[in-house]
Amino acid sequence: MKWLVHAVACGLAVTLLCTGADFVGMPVDGVRGLVVVTCQFISIAAFWCFVMAVLLVAGRWVAGTVMGLLMTAGGVLGYFRYTWHYSFDETMFDILGAVSETTTMSMINWQLVVWTITVVTIGEAVVFLGCRFYRLKYNDWKTWCIVAVASVASAAFLNPDWRMCRPLTRRIPLNVVYEYKKYRENRYEIEKKRERSDMVGMPMEDDVVVVVVIGEAVRADNLGMNGYWRETTPFLEKRDGIVSFKNMWTDICYTNGSIPRIMTRADGKNPDRAYSERSFIDLFRQCGLPTVVITNQNIERQYSYFWNEADTLIVTNRGRDAYNYSKWLDEDVLEPYRTATGRMNEGLVVVHCIGSHWWYKAHYPDNMEYYRPVIKSRIVAECDSAAMVNTYDNTIRYMDWVVDQMISEIEGRKAILIYISDHGEALGEDGMWLHASDCRGAHRTAAFVWMSEKYREECPERWENFAKRRDEKMKTDEIYGWVRNMFISMN
Ligand SMILES: [Zn+2]
Repeated sequence: MKWLVHAVACGLAVTLLCTGADFVGMPVDGVRGLVVVTCQFISIAAFWCFVMAVLLVAGRWVAGTVMGLLMTAGGVLGYFRYTWHYSFDETMFDILGAVSETTTMSMINWQLVVWTITVVTIGEAVVFLGCRFYRLKYNDWKTWCIVAVASVASAAFLNPDWRMCRPLTRRIPLNVVYEYKKYRENRYEIEKKRERSDMVGMPMEDDVVVVVVIGEAVRADNLGMNGYWRETTPFLEKRDGIVSFKNMWTDICYTNGSIPRIMTRADGKNPDRAYSERSFIDLFRQCGLPTVVITNQNIERQYSYFWNEADTLIVTNRGRDAYNYSKWLDEDVLEPYRTATGRMNEGLVVVHCIGSHWWYKAHYPDNMEYYRPVIKSRIVAECDSAAMVNTYDNTIRYMDWVVDQMISEIEGRKAILIYISDHGEALGEDGMWLHASDCRGAHRTAAFVWMSEKYREECPERWENFAKRRDEKMKTDEIYGWVRNMFISMN
């Protein structure tokens, strides 16, 4: 009995001191949200209690060593999470190998050291002091029954099919293991040999700057320029040279599946091409044109290969993830975008935005909150429907401003910007919210093209062809072909 009480104390210490930082500032609104968050917290604590029960049977030195490792990781990550709102992500493994000693030293301050030492000391004290109060009966069958139950229970938590696996493995301290696994998977994909899908000759015309912006969860119906009742796209509507394709459809409603279909020759008939062929970035590279990818999202295995096809890959907003609620804004891509487009006469820039991703409030600045009231809770079930739509529309209106800024940078040149969202979003239709659900709103994705005046004058037929298709039904699978046929002449 004392052994189990001790395991609970150890488990609670890990949950409070390590995972606790990930719960600080989590937006909830009302009893329902509190209950959901408390249940999550208790479940995570239960996992650590099971683990500690097993470790204590292995001996206090084993339990003490593991506790030391957990608390060191938890102390450091919790400190950065709490003070810098920084979540550890897989790109850190690249950075850790590349940063100089001075940079590392500049991140270490006395508060971090004191906090980490305190956390480790508390953890060790709980393990070693607790062991003084009892002696485990190794020859008792009940002990081994409990060990078996605790082992099976903790393994069950790590089963990816169980809904507690995600909240547990994405949070401190297990996120280090999760992110390392993701990092290895990404490296594997990047290093894998892929076929060239098209052998190309040369650029079809000189001096065109091509920008492809991949949006996130922006649905066609909520764009003012598509006839939405709110003016969510005032900047873009004022521009000449824009055609919005109202009837763009994506077969796949989640980022990891949809982006490979946009980037490659893959389509409904040949879905495997998404994982065996190169993207349109490679077409530009083959022609000797400069290519830049700027991403404001976490890089996932399903598209890490394409981003690394570019000459230059720029990652903005490292250290953000689904369990981080601080601001994560697309305006942060503007500076590297300016530099990239400023340097090139011709070439390709691909920008991957965070756009209208869930926890909408993180993805637009507070001074651009046009529609109110907005949501106050991250628990969808306790959000008011009208507030959900208001908050979502704020992200659309912010996207309008960000893309308009991108256009301003290249408007005097021979340039084109293709905007395509990876998928749309469900906004309460049939009780469904967010994406990945199979509803019309999530399939109907935003897409538009802007061509500069110079480009329209030089290639009026191209412009007319876009204008003609504005109401046509089309699929995101077409984008690869658009890019290839417009800019590259085949061998
Ligand atoms: Zn997405």
